[in-house]
Order: sequence, then C-alpha cells, then structure tokens
Amino acid sequence: MHKIVVIGGGYGGLRAIEKLVPIPNVEITLIDRNAFHYMQTEVYGFIAGTKDIDELAIDLESWCEGFSTPVRFISQKVTRIDPENSLVDTGETSIPFDTLIIATGARTNFPDSIEGLREHSYGVKQLKRAFNFHHRFQRLIEQKLEGDDDVINIIVAGAGLSGVEVAAEMAYMLQRYKKMIGRRIEKIAITLIDACETILPGLHPFLIASAEKRLENLDVTLKTSAFIDRVDASFLHLKGGEKLPYTFIVFTGGIRGVSEFTPENFGKNSIGQLNVTPFLTIEGYDHIFAIGDVANIIDTYGKPLPPTAQIAEKSAEYVAKTIDSRLRGKKISPFSAKIDGLFIALGGRYGIAELFGLRFKGMGVYYLKRIITLIYYLGIRLRVNAGYKIRR
Ligand SMILES: Cc1cc2nc3c(=O)[nH]c(=O)nc-3n(C[C@H](O)[C@H](O)[C@H](O)COP(=O)(O)OP(=O)(O)OC[C@H]3O[C@@H](n4cnc5c(N)ncnc54)[C@H](O)[C@@H]3O)c2cc1C
Repeated sequence: MHKIVVIGGGYGGLRAIEKLVPIPNVEITLIDRNAFHYMQTEVYGFIAGTKDIDELAIDLESWCEGFSTPVRFISQKVTRIDPENSLVDTGETSIPFDTLIIATGARTNFPDSIEGLREHSYGVKQLKRAFNFHHRFQRLIEQKLEGDDDVINIIVAGAGLSGVEVAAEMAYMLQRYKKMIGRRIEKIAITLIDACETILPGLHPFLIASAEKRLENLDVTLKTSAFIDRVDASFLHLKGGEKLPYTFIVFTGGIRGVSEFTPENFGKNSIGQLNVTPFLTIEGYDHIFAIGDVANIIDTYGKPLPPTAQIAEKSAEYVAKTIDSRLRGKKISPFSAKIDGLFIALGGRYGIAELFGLRFKGMGVYYLKRIITLIYYLGIRLRVNAGYKIRR
C-alpha cells in the first residue's frame, strides 16, 4: 500500500482526497488541527447573521468515513515534518508517509510593524475569530435595541475580496434592520479602508466601479490610499496624522502561509508560503507537495497565483493526478492554472463577477455564486451524511 498523508482539511486537502480515493492500492490519512472543515468563503454571511454555523463548519471525521474505503482522520496539530525519514509529527504521534501533501492554508497576517493592530482587531481566517466577531456584531445590534445612543464605528481594514464582502454584508444587514427596528441602527457606521488607490486592487475597473457604487449605496464610507500607522484602545491612526475612532476593527489586509512546522531547508517567500517547483513539489523532495494558500505557486507568466479556494482545488486535482500517473509509471506535465472566474458577494442578493473575460453585476451573479456554493456544500454534505450513518 502506498501511504499518502494530507495535512490540512481545507478546500485543497478535501479536493485532493476526493481525487485520491479512487486510486487503487493507496492508504490515505488526513490530519487537521481542527475537527472540522471551515468554509471560510461563506464567513461574511455568518458574521452578518445570514448564515448558520452548520453552513460553515463540517465534521471531518464523518466526512472521512463517508467514502467506500474510509480515509483515516487524525485531529491533531502537525508540529514537525521529517522529510529525510518521511515522517509527520504531531507531538502525540508520528505518521509515516510515502507521499505527503501540505495543504495547511494561511492565516491573517497582522504586520508586526503596525503597533496595536493584532491586539485590537479581529481576523476572519479562523472560525474562532469569526465567532468572536459575529457575537460582537450581534451584541451591537442588541445594545442599540436596548436604547444605547452611542455612535458605533466599525472599521474593515483591507479592501480586497474578503474585506469588501464582509463590509457589504454587514452594511446590507444594517439597512434591513433599519426598516424593521428603527433609526437607532443609523448610528452604526462602517468604514472600509485600504492602503491602495482603489478598493479591490488589481481587478478590472468595471468591477471596482460597480463595487464602489454598491458600497456607497449601502452607506459604507470608503477610504483608500490610507496607511495604518498604529492602533490604540480607541483610535486607528493613519499615516499623515488622521485618526479614526473605532468600536471594533476587522483586519482583512493580508495573509501568511501556515508553514512553521516545516524544516529550515524548505524555501519560503516573505509571507511564509512554501516555494514549489513547477510540479508543486518542494525542491529536492519529489515526494512532498504543497498546494493552496500555503504554496507560492507561480503561473506560466511568472506571476504568483492569488490565494483562492479555486486555486487550492485546482492544485489539489493536479497533485492527485500526478500521484496517480507516478504510480502507473506515466509521464507528468507541470502545473498550469489560471483563474476561470471570480464572484464577489456585495450584500443581500447582489454580486459582481468576471467570467471568461466578461464582467457582470446584479442579482443574477448572486444566484450563480449561490448555486456554485450549494453544489460544493451538497457534495460535502452527502459525504458527511454517509459517514454519520456509519458512525452511529
Ligand atoms: C471572507 C473570505 C472570502 C473568500 N472568498 C473566496 C471566494 O469567493 N472564492 C475563492 O476562490 N476564495 C475565497 N477566499 C479564499 C479561500 O477561502 C482560501 O483561498 C482557501 O480557504 C484556501 O484553501 P486551502 O485548502 O489552501 O486552506 P484552508 O481552507 O485555509 O485550509 C487549511 C487547513 O489546514 C489546517 N491546518 C493548518 N495548520 C495545521 C497544522 N499545523 N496541523 C494540522 N492542520 C493544520 C487548518 O485547520 C485548515 O483546516 C475567501 C477567503 C475569505 C477569508
């Protein structure tokens, strides 16, 4: 039996396993520090209260049992990899492998150079932090209902895809509440800031303009070319002297690859992502792959691919195919991937998208995004149901 170990049950890890299971004579083990798969692409709805926890956290043990040949699941944090002896260490146990797939994703990168930022802000890359943020948002609404008349300032720092989605969904919910539970809600202000000249930096001007218009209609204040200098207990200070009062801050300004358990000779970029060869292996170790957000994947034009669930899944499919080809003694080609499309939810039933080089906005985009998410979710759900029945 060929032993394959996958570290990380995120978008990349799960897709890799789906594709590896049909390969004959392999034994698969999934290791995750959490007992659940976290659907972080849906977190904006959870924070704003439009999605429930079971749409976000999926039991990995049931999922693993849901295959005709069950996948072994170990819910422990990997602390070390020994590539020479092909061992993964969790501190509690040592797991041998013939092939290893590192799919440990990324966490929010709170730059150390910004004093007070980590201490005073929330991230959304971990369910625990998203939970805190969700409760804080719900508590604010409750305070307003109880008659609190203070002005509440919510700052979303980082206007990339996730920051824009979180700001838009919260603002949309506030507009909805305003109609039903009164004007007190008007005293909750949302500001979205970014150091770049525009929101959604790097995207097509049509998408940027459409998102700006939507956010303005939702009463979100946009502040671009705004560099955070420091954060204290009451104010977010911008370079240049301006200070913004805040009640709470969510930081969506960047990510850092989760790779601290890898040996020193594994090359990394400045944000902790593992450098990979065109075959997505670690240089010098043909039996170790890295996929998804933890990998610094360079496209055919020499540019790094953005950290998205889409790339995590594509890189996972490629690696599973490569392993299958190797076991059959077949030739393999380098990984080549591009982003097929991009969907951004902008509060309520509204979204913007780029698909096959064309750009769209409106309700249709929202429903298309919803269908894609539902298909993903249903696939996982069916597997969990099957595993849950076996375990009971
Ligand atoms: C608000 C938001 C919206 C987004 N929207 C989109 C979108 O619309 N489209 C899109 O394509 N992408 C989107 N993304 C990005 C997408 O979520 C990530 O690119 C994707 O999750 C990366 O998948 P991954 O498998 O590499 O890592 P992850 O999904 O982060 O999974 C990593 C896994 O590794 C585990 N792990 C980490 N360290 C260890 C360890 N030491 N030991 C054991 N296990 C470990 C973690 O517990 C986790 O389960 C969004 C992200 C956010 C935050």
